[in-house]
Amino acid sequence: MKKVLVLEDEVGIRSFLVINLKRSGYEPLEAGTGAEAFELLRLNPDIKVALLDVMLPDTDGFEVCRRIRASGSKMGIIMLTARTQEMDKVTGLMTGADDYVTKPLASIAELTARVDALYRRVGGDDMPETGEVVRGPFRLNTRNRTLEKNGERIRLTQVEYAIVKLFMDNPGKALSREEILASVWGPDYDGDLKIVDVNIRRLRIKVEDDPQTPSCITTVWGFGYKWGF
Ligand code: CA
Repeated sequence: MKKVLVLEDEVGIRSFLVINLKRSGYEPLEAGTGAEAFELLRLNPDIKVALLDVMLPDTDGFEVCRRIRASGSKMGIIMLTARTQEMDKVTGLMTGADDYVTKPLASIAELTARVDALYRRVGGDDMPETGEVVRGPFRLNTRNRTLEKNGERIRLTQVEYAIVKLFMDNPGKALSREEILASVWGPDYDGDLKIVDVNIRRLRIKVEDDPQTPSCITTVWGFGYKWGF
């Protein structure tokens, strides 16, 4: 069962999401408050993707996202934000979300495509790759999908892992933002290129000795990014 958590307090929107997710082959689990969402997450550890509304009666979606990540979960998280300000998107991504969708939804097909893409990335490990890639202080385990730096585990989201893997598969090569977006988010993803920058910024905080003067992930101005190891 492909379980998706749908946290949205507006019943009309929630029903609309649930009907369409069911139509796309998912088993949506509905919550109207943060408390209900945490209860569902506790009872269903096999939830792979969560849709989180931002404005909720008892908490906000960013806080829910932060707590999910704090528990060590790598599930795919899409923020449903009613507001269009760039800051909200950035806040969502900085708290560990993988993607965001602005309400009102331009198209349900777009949302289900994003859920499909995220689900494939998070849950599509039926045939795990095996092996390890070691470069400089970094050790990437492609079977467990983990990263260590100098022997210490760095906790990554699935998106961050996919970016690091892409870098390690292309050592020393400058990758364009478009290339990173297409490879990590999938060729059909039509979101903003800024999502790449936000994830790189978050990744730098995790992997760099000094995120202000990055040496692992360097910026190639006007083009993209390069991995230094
Ligand atoms: Ca709401």
